[in-house]
Amino acid sequence: MSDYKLGTRCVQGGYTPGNGEPRQMPIVQSTTFRYATSEDMGKLFDLEANGYFYSRLQNPTNDMVAAKITELEGGTAGMLTSSGQAANFFALFNICECGDHIVASSSIYGGTFNLISVTMAKMGITATFVSPDASEEELDAAFRPNTKAVFGETIANPALTVLDIEKFAKAAHAHGVPLIVDNTFPTPVNCRPFEWGADIVTHSTTKYMDGHGAALGGAIIDHGVFDWMAHAEKFPGLCTPDESYHGITYAEKFGKEGAFITKCTSQLMRDFGSMQSPQNAFILNLGLESLHVRMPKHVENAQAVAEFLYSHPKVAYVNYSGLPTDKYYEVAQKYLPNGGCGVVSFGLKGGREAASIFMRELKLGAIETHVADARTCCLNPATSTHRQMNDEQLKEAGVPAELIRISLGLEDKEDLIADISNALDAI
Ligand SMILES: *Cc1c(COP(=O)(O)O)cnc(C)c1O
Repeated sequence: MSDYKLGTRCVQGGYTPGNGEPRQMPIVQSTTFRYATSEDMGKLFDLEANGYFYSRLQNPTNDMVAAKITELEGGTAGMLTSSGQAANFFALFNICECGDHIVASSSIYGGTFNLISVTMAKMGITATFVSPDASEEELDAAFRPNTKAVFGETIANPALTVLDIEKFAKAAHAHGVPLIVDNTFPTPVNCRPFEWGADIVTHSTTKYMDGHGAALGGAIIDHGVFDWMAHAEKFPGLCTPDESYHGITYAEKFGKEGAFITKCTSQLMRDFGSMQSPQNAFILNLGLESLHVRMPKHVENAQAVAEFLYSHPKVAYVNYSGLPTDKYYEVAQKYLPNGGCGVVSFGLKGGREAASIFMRELKLGAIETHVADARTCCLNPATSTHRQMNDEQLKEAGVPAELIRISLGLEDKEDLIADISNALDAI
């Protein structure tokens, strides 16, 4: 499939039926799998043979969908998780343990900020947050001898900052650690972080990949290029024998291409059990089949709305990297030449109060804790997703208290602009 263009991979990647087999990807709705002899099954437990034994670890439907996303990103191995949160936690915890340290962009999803700054801190994993605009020197200064990973989002939710992936990858690699990029907002249709030096990509497939607000899910994809063995002292979990798996050394047995995902599946999925259900994977695959058709429409609507808001007298500012006046326009031209995503954020001159009137008056755009859906929706992060942050942290994360995030769906842009215009008139 990797010889085909991206749209073809969206439609047909991950699953090719044999003679007389279902044209549609089958849902393997089974917790368990049958074997003729215990020896056959033993080989699976020892990771000596490929196969399925229990859906907490692996399921054929999930693997087919993971294979499609892996083909889209240009990676060597991938896995699905129950949510984007699980994907980011697994991607980090697969290489970090108590006593380790992470360098992360401060401009990230509120849930991920909380995961890293509070929950993982309780596990003894500390973090230094850096501005996505940090200079090479500032980035350099954030590293410690116990740093194990660098983390950022291609387009941050909801701040809409655009990550200079090459700069972050260069800093990570200079310190012998991988760059993990959450590529949820652009999806591989608009950006493939591996092409710019990222090592691991994560997704909340709940967003554009599903695209219909139907199924929660996540994915982790490995580029298969980072040389764990060259930095073996930093990554004992990959480079020394795993006692819980009969002394297997993942980086030796599965190489650069397979070590990360094999360990993540056979250890973390085994022990934490954040599987995606095969039903959800099936729904996710329906979304993936039209991802390349939907993304340009989301971008078209967002660009039109961003331009409308920008020229409106009641609007104080607009964040959208497709606007030539945007701080991230240049960097977006490089990493997102076909546009970024369908999410725009803006502040009204009337502050918090105007924001609440505006949102109440919208008819097509519903108030939802969601983005990247076929239906337009909006949110005030300060009073919802980011409410655990104080005003100072909100500003630092690029989501000041009055900020409205609007996620443009697949409706006709004329209707969306008319709706937004009416709501602004009501202020
Ligand atoms: C939504 C989101 C997440 C969390 O994903 P869930 O599927 O809701 O767990 C992580 N990262 C980004 C960028 C997101 O937008």
